This record gives sequence, C-alpha cells and structure tokens, in this order.
Amino acid sequence: MPRQLFVTTALPYANGNFHIGHIMEYIQADIWVRHQRMQGNAVNFVGADDTHGAPIMIAAEKAGITPQQFVANIAAGRKPYLDGFHIAFDNWHSTDAPENHALAQQIYRDLKANGLISSKVIEQFFDPEKNMFLPDRFIKGECPKCHAKDQYGDNCEVCGSVY
Ligand SMILES: [Zn+2]
Repeated sequence: MPRQLFVTTALPYANGNFHIGHIMEYIQADIWVRHQRMQGNAVNFVGADDTHGAPIMIAAEKAGITPQQFVANIAAGRKPYLDGFHIAFDNWHSTDAPENHALAQQIYRDLKANGLISSKVIEQFFDPEKNMFLPDRFIKGECPKCHAKDQYGDNCEVCGSVY
C-alpha cells in the first residue's frame, strides 16, 4: 500500500544565499524523496525561506534596503542553485505568506483560549532614534561568563555561552 509522505528540510534563513550546508541537506532529502517515489509512495516535498529575525534586519540595513526587499532579492536567487543541483521541491514558499500568518495566528489564539499563554513584564533595550525594541543581535557588550569584550547579546563567540 503506497504511503503518503510529507517531506521538508530545515528552512533556510533568508539573510544570505545558499551555502554548501544547505545544498548538502537538500541533496540528501532529494535522494530520499526520489527513492520513496521509486517505491511507489506519494511524496510532497516542500521548502520555504525563513524570512523573520534580526540577522535579516541587520543584513538589510547594511544593504540600505528594507527587510522585505532584502528577502525578495534572496528568494529570487534561489532557483539557479536548486536547478543546478537538480533538486526538485514540489513547492517553495515563504514564512511571510498570508496563509502562514493566518495559521500562526490561529495557533496563538487556540493556545490563548486554552490558557496556555501567559504574560509577564520584561526589560528590553530600546532605540529611541529607530523607535524600536532591540533584538539581542543588536546589543553588544562584555560576556558575563568569560568577560570577553564586544560580544553579541545572544551568545559569546569566545566561550560559546548562549543567553
Ligand atoms: Zn564568554
């Protein structure tokens, strides 16, 4: 009896072009997908750009364009890499798609309705010029564990601590 399989990979972060690590993972997944199809199984092989996060904001700011423009440029450059390695996703999409927004909001509402979301007040750095709260990647300072200078707010590249 044929199996119905849904296959995906880690979604690549849209802050840069594919690198060899992405392609290696896709080749491995593509081989497995082709094998399953040769066995008579039905496979839906999907991927998407992960379009959210501070590294994209930082890269876009460096490039002098909006994060949306930056992500669109990265997305436009994906096809030659995939075609060049004969990797054939059935669908390639984006985490910034309307259906993903609706689904994420529905999951949040369901969790909230079932008492699984709690709120608490936290302190966070704020940039009054940009009028925005700053993600950890925008904060640099001394590592509280090894005291290395000039480390990002989410991890220390000297001692490997993650905050
Ligand atoms: Zn450290």
